[in-house]
Formats: sequence, structure tokens, C-alpha cells
Amino acid sequence: MKDPKVLTEKVVDVPLRNIHKHDVVIIGTGLAGLWAAIKCKSAGLDTACMTKLSMPQRSHSTAAQGGIAASLGSLEEDYWEWHMFDTVKGSDFLADQDAAEILTRDAITIVREYEHMGAPFSRTPDGLIAQRKFGGHVKDFGRGGPVLRACYAADRTGHVLLHTLWQKALELGVRFYTEMFAISLISDGPKCAGVVTWDTKNGGLHAFKAKATLIATGGYGRAWKITATSYSYTADGQYMALRAGVPLEDMEFFQFHPTGLFDRGILMTEGCRGEGGYLINDLGERFMKNYAPEKMELAPRDIVSRAITSEIEAGRGINGGPYIYLDIRHLGAEIINTRLPQIREISIKFAGVDPIHEPIPIVPTAHYSMGGIPTDVDGRVLFDGKSQIFSGLYAAGECACVSVHGANRLGCNSTLDASVFGRRCGLTIVKDFANLEHLPLEEDSAKMAKEEIEFIWNQKGSIRPEEIRNELQTGMQNYVAVFREEKGLLKMISIIEDMHKKMKEMLISDKSLAYNTTLMEAMELRHLIAAAEAVTYGALNRTESRGAQARRDYPKRDDENWLKHTLYFRDESGFRFDYKDVRLTRFVPEERKY
Ligand SMILES: Cc1cc2nc3c(=O)[nH]c(=O)nc-3n(C[C@H](O)[C@H](O)[C@H](O)COP(=O)(O)OP(=O)(O)OC[C@H]3O[C@@H](n4cnc5c(N)ncnc54)[C@H](O)[C@@H]3O)c2cc1C
Repeated sequence: MKDPKVLTEKVVDVPLRNIHKHDVVIIGTGLAGLWAAIKCKSAGLDTACMTKLSMPQRSHSTAAQGGIAASLGSLEEDYWEWHMFDTVKGSDFLADQDAAEILTRDAITIVREYEHMGAPFSRTPDGLIAQRKFGGHVKDFGRGGPVLRACYAADRTGHVLLHTLWQKALELGVRFYTEMFAISLISDGPKCAGVVTWDTKNGGLHAFKAKATLIATGGYGRAWKITATSYSYTADGQYMALRAGVPLEDMEFFQFHPTGLFDRGILMTEGCRGEGGYLINDLGERFMKNYAPEKMELAPRDIVSRAITSEIEAGRGINGGPYIYLDIRHLGAEIINTRLPQIREISIKFAGVDPIHEPIPIVPTAHYSMGGIPTDVDGRVLFDGKSQIFSGLYAAGECACVSVHGANRLGCNSTLDASVFGRRCGLTIVKDFANLEHLPLEEDSAKMAKEEIEFIWNQKGSIRPEEIRNELQTGMQNYVAVFREEKGLLKMISIIEDMHKKMKEMLISDKSLAYNTTLMEAMELRHLIAAAEAVTYGALNRTESRGAQARRDYPKRDDENWLKHTLYFRDESGFRFDYKDVRLTRFVPEERKY
């Protein structure tokens, strides 16, 4: 029996705490991870879920505000085909259409299953699930006006969905591990045996053996300075996949949400505009008439973020400053208090502005990663990014790229993506299970995890990790944000190269085992740099503008050369790109106008 020897070689005095064995190990307890856990456990599999946070309910999904999209058609006419068209057009035709079809068809089932689990959606006076308008969701294959499609629970939708799933998972007996930081996959070529983790509470490594391992670790919005994302959004899962030899797909497409609270980045949900809110420049104009004359404030996010940035650059920010106004005063106190209570609370607490009486100062904020770990439509990780299955390894939610969002995600399609593909991934694991096995752990199974800890622990330099993080976030904010161009991207690459050197000169003052936040943050920083590198090289490589990738030096979409997905491979010797075709099934790419 080889297993007990796995971690006997000591990592800088770090003890091996335990070797755990489960049928299924899920890294991440957001919507994606919990849906998969519920499906696996319901089928009788011994299922464990881990999070690096102190409790599963703190997963980033809890922050989702505006809603989850589904063409229920109960309040007004709507069809999944319209939803699919909007998703594909919103993606600037880069979404894989077979995946977009699954997303929008299964949306209705997902909302019904949430309802049957007891999710307390907001209701109409007739008791139906309330739905609101959202950017880019319209009637009649883009020809009609905005449609009521986003199911919501006031402006706390993620909170209620996450708690509903968590309670269900508890009821079923899913095993939870908290404050467990996954560091590296245990894999041999395209075969996964589990994951090695760092025990945040006590210090020390754990090995988790599993027949199926699911990465559901969310995004990496913390690579930017102005961001709506939680502190835990640090690309851990993407980094684990890269190191195991998997490429990352379409990393150049990162979404800036149009309405973050000025200076803070905290999200002011698109639901504000869905309920009828206006965007106003210094001249008091609803300037969206110049950018999306028909859909106005309810155009997709890439278009609205570019419009706001352009207004600010043209000197039409409020008082000539770097922000504009989101005005919801005309909605009245009752609607604001019942449908947008959290928005009001955040505005008062963080900006000193009561939106019932004053407009909210806003600016685009880093929000969502369209790219990620490539999977097939059933959540199986693709080792080569194209067709080779990574046996025993799955991915879902924001860390994955299936790809339903292509170059730009529509609002309310992400809680949906995490739910639909998390659930689907769980069902796939159940289906695949008979053909999966527990692979033996080898002597060097924890090699990569040890290397990560030692890399940081042995530093003897003088640069604090937070200084390097600051540099990363400022650089990404300045050079790889709403608009990009070659000069800025090259500048960011030189900043990243410099950061790699600085990462070898860090000052790690805390050498304690328990709750060593310096160690954790330094590991997260390493992951963020790797993600930022993939985004920046990807953005430089793609010489066109499509969705969230807006190149000032290549302002046009170029279907002839770039209607394809990027695959970014990285190892110690450097990086390389490969490409794969976009799967077009129903809709032919056309010019994107709103
Ligand atoms: C403020 C805000 C509002 C939003 N509102 C909406 C909305 O209204 N509608 C919509 O569709 N989308 C919305 N989104 C996007 C949406 O909320 C997310 O994309 C989605 O919830 C992601 O779910 P997930 O399950 O993939 O990840 P998460 O919910 O982030 O879960 C990730 C899990 O992985 C864990 N994890 C990460 N790294 C590790 C590690 N190394 N080891 C162990 N565990 C780890 C985390 O601790 C967490 O438990 C919003 C996003 C933001 C920022």
C-alpha cells in the first residue's frame, strides 16, 4: 500500500494532517459546486464539498443581486429560442450554440427545481414568480423590446439561491470541509486522482482521493483594482488546471459591469436599469441614445461599459470627473424599498447617497470571467481543450468555459450557467461513475502543492506580497480594462515580467501554521498573476474587437480570422496558443446592433 507514504517527506516542517477518500470531491461551494453535490449525493455517491472560506454560504454566489434568467413565459410571451438567440448575439457570436441551447432550455427546469426546493423568489400579486427586464434580453429574436425574463428575489437573488442549495445539501448529508484551500490536482497525464489542500485552520497538507473531482472555484476579478468580486476571486482553480497541463479558453474576454459604485467597485445591479433606471452624464443627458438608440440602458454590458468610459474620456463625467450617474429616483420609494433594498443600503453606507433622493455615482467595475477551464457540454474537462477527456476531472460555473457566454455574458446568465452546468456536471459524474476508479497515490502526488508552499515559505526578500498585488491590480486597471491597445498591453506584459522577478523576493514575515493569511494571499497572488498573464497575452494576440475585448487599434470584429476560440497553454518553458472552431448550430453571425 503506497498511499501512507505520499506526504511523508516533510514540507518545511509542515505536517501531513490526513488522507481522505470519497467517491466525489467538489472544490467550491457556490451555486455550481452545490448543484453538483446535490445530484451526486442524491444518487447515493459519497460526496464531499470543500471551500477555502469559513462557511459555504460565504461563497461569492451569495453576492448575486439581479436574478437568474429563464424564459418561463408566464408573465408575458417568451421562449427559450428567443433567450438562446439573445445569449448568442450577446456573446458577439462566439458562444458555442449547442451549449447555449442547453443553457436556455434547461433554464426553465432549473428555476422550477429551485422553486420546488423552496427558494423564496419575489412574487407577483397573483403568486407567480416575479421577473424583471435585463440588458440584452429581448423579444422575438432581437426584433422586439425588452422582455420580463430575470427571476429574482428582490436584489438578493444569489443569497436565497445559495442558501436553498446549501440547506438541501445539508439535508442530504453532503460532507463539508471548510477553510480547506485546494492547491494542486493529483494527476498523471489526463487522469485525475484527487486534490491536495492546505488546512487553513491548523496548517498542513491534506490529500483527498476521489474517483471524480470537480473544480467549481469561481473567477478572478481580484486581478483588477476596481472590482465587484469577492476577495476569494483569485483564479485558484484555473491555475490548478493550467499546472495539470490543461489550457485555458478565451481568457481575453473579461467583463466589466457598467455600474459599480464609484471608487469602490461594489455592484449596483443591472436590475436598477431593469426596473427603469437611467444613466446620466454631466449634461443631464441619457447618453445611451448615442450608443444603443433602441435598447438604451438595457443594451448588453460590453456596449454600456464602453459608452460610460467614452463619456468620461470625453469630459462628460459628472463635473468633468471619472464617474457618471445611475438615476433611479423616478422609480419612487416603494419600488426602491421593495425591489432594490440592498442597493439603497449599499449606496447610503458606502457613498453617503440615498438613491430615493439623489443619483448614484457609478463607474464600470471588473465583474466576470467569460473564459476558463474548457469542458464539454456535460462538464468533463478537456485535456487538450478540444476533445481529449481528462478522466475523473470536471469543471463548472465561472471557472469553466463551456462556452455559453462567448465574448460577452448577458446579465442573469451566470447564476444560470453555474446552476445548469453544475447540475449537469453532477448528473454526468453519476453517469460516468461506473467507469471511474480510485487511482493509487504516488510518492510525488503532493509535489506541486509542496512546491507552492515552499516557494513562498522560503522567500527571504523584502517586498511585501500586497505591494506586488497593488501593482498587478493597478496595471490591469490601466491597461487591460474596458478598452485595450497594443501599447498598453505590452506595458502590462513588462509589468508582469517584473512581477515574476519580485515574486522571488517576497518578504513573508509570518511563518506560523494556523491562519497564516500571508501564505494564503501570496499563493492567491501567484494564481492571479498567472490569470492576468493569460488575459493580457490573449488580448494582445486577438487582433480584433469582439464583445468585451475592445481593441482601439483593431476596432472591428473580424469573423474571417477570429471566429474561433483561443486556447492558452502554459508551462515552465513558456506559453503557446491553439484555437478551436465555434460550434454554430442555429444562428448565423450577423452585425450586432441594439
Ligand atoms: C456583485 C455581483 C453580483 C452578481 N449578480 C449576478 C446576478 O444577479 N445574476 C447572475 O447571473 N450573475 C451574477 N453575478 C455573477 C455570479 O454571481 C457568479 O458568476 C456565480 O455566482 C459564480 O458561481 P460559482 O459557483 O461558479 O462560484 P462561487 O459562488 O464563487 O463559488 C466558488 C467557490 O469556490 C471556493 N474556492 C475558490 N478557490 C478555492 C480553493 N483554492 N480551495 C477551496 N475552495 C476554493 C470558494 O471559496 C467558493 O466556495 C454577480 C457577480 C457579482 C460580482
